[in-house]
Amino acid sequence: MCGSREISRHPAQVYDRCPTCDLDLERQVGSFIGGIGLNTILAFVVLFSVIIVGFIATGGEASVTRILLPALAVSVLLPLFFYARSRLLWVALELIWWPLDADETLIVN
Ligand SMILES: [Zn+2]
Repeated sequence: MCGSREISRHPAQVYDRCPTCDLDLERQVGSFIGGIGLNTILAFVVLFSVIIVGFIATGGEASVTRILLPALAVSVLLPLFFYARSRLLWVALELIWWPLDADETLIVN
């Protein structure tokens, strides 16, 4: 809501509330699943892109070093580093779909 970038302790862990405006970052029970879903979709899109580009670059050869290792690295590292951003993106989508109620207080600077 405030645009603060300080919503996470590190890329794989998000605060429960925004430290700047006190927005509840899990407004509905289980809404973190939406962020995980976005994270999963992005990871699969990038993973399949890496595999397809790897096959094209190797001329259709199944190379462990050119396809499997980059695919493993992407499938492990990308979800970890994009987790906080995907949670924040999901919170933004929730705010579009379900704007704040009057009883959801914010600290306005
Ligand atoms: Zn905020």
